[in-house]
This record gives sequence, structure tokens and C-alpha cells, in this order.
Amino acid sequence: MTVRIDHAITSGTFSLDGETHQVDNNIWVVGDDEDCIVIDAPHSVDDILAVVAGRTVKAILCTHAHDDHVRVAPELRVATGAPILLHPDDQPLWELTHTDELWDVDIEDGQSIKVGGAALTILHTPGHAPGAVCIYVHDLGCVFTGDTLFEGGPGATGRSFSDADQIVDSIRRRLFELPDETVVHTGHGADTTIGAEREDLD
Ligand SMILES: [Zn+2]
Repeated sequence: MTVRIDHAITSGTFSLDGETHQVDNNIWVVGDDEDCIVIDAPHSVDDILAVVAGRTVKAILCTHAHDDHVRVAPELRVATGAPILLHPDDQPLWELTHTDELWDVDIEDGQSIKVGGAALTILHTPGHAPGAVCIYVHDLGCVFTGDTLFEGGPGATGRSFSDADQIVDSIRRRLFELPDETVVHTGHGADTTIGAEREDLD
């Protein structure tokens, strides 16, 4: 397997319900030496393209449509020619940030997206957002959880379009079925593992 994960951190703001917060977001890029998929499009196209490092971007895959995850998605689409992929249940959130342009392709639970010989499996995990997804990569032993699961527990559910019971249900049913040693790459902050978070939540 020549597929690898590249990572950087970029900074900007997150706004919802009339409040704005300063946030650091993880940039995750999965691919080989030629092709890659960018997971989320936070804050800065230049910061994302630095991680892409000249490779062909096959897709911009959004874990959910909060503005700190999709703000530069249309700009990144222009820069790379890659389509934006989003779960359609996040349309109301997308429209809070992008009023005059849409994403390109709907993603659905169970879908498999290939890059460089690795399969990225979409797990629909509503709760933090209605269209929130996690991306499981069996070949790499990891899952990208966006804002659904962090080191220390579930993502925030205090704002509009979130549901606290639903996020715990999603984590138990979809993420805790993965092996304990699965590495969790989050939307903000440090990595964790499924095993560590299972212990925390149970
Ligand atoms: Zn979020």
C-alpha cells in the first residue's frame, strides 16, 4: 500500500447562531504520490494546497458543512478542478455559508471512494450535524471523524442542527463497531483511538 496520510493545521473562525469563535482545524489529505483526496476545506486554500504538494486532487470530501470545514471548498474546487462531496442532509448548514453555489456530488452511507488503491468508506453519523459523516479507511487502520468524535468524547451538540442523543447513538452504532486499535483523526486537535474513546464513553 503506497497510500499515505498528510496533515497540517490551519486557523480561522467558526460562526453559528450569531457567535464567532477562533478555531484551529486539521487538514487531512489521503493519497499516493500522484492522486489524493482532501478531507474538509477549512480556512485557507494555500494551506491545503501546501499539503497536496502538486498532486491531482480527485475529490474534496466534506465531513459536514459547518463553515470552518467548507468555507474554502468552492475556491479549492476552482484551484484543483476537483468535485466537492457532501451528505445532502447538511444542505441547510451549507447554505448558511455558501448562498449562491452548491457542492457537486451527494455522498451516502456505505459508499466507497477509492484513491491510490485504498478504499474510503462513508459512515453517516448524524448528531453534530444532520449530514455529518465519518470516513473509515480499513487499509490504513484509521477513521476520519470530523467533529463527531474527539479525543475525550463526542463533538459539540449545543448549537442549531445538532442532537446530543443522536451523536452518542451514531458513535455507539457506527464507530464503536470498528476495531479498538483504529486511529481516530479528528477535525480539531489530537488523534485518539476507538478503544480509548470506548472506555471513556462507557
Ligand atoms: Zn462542526
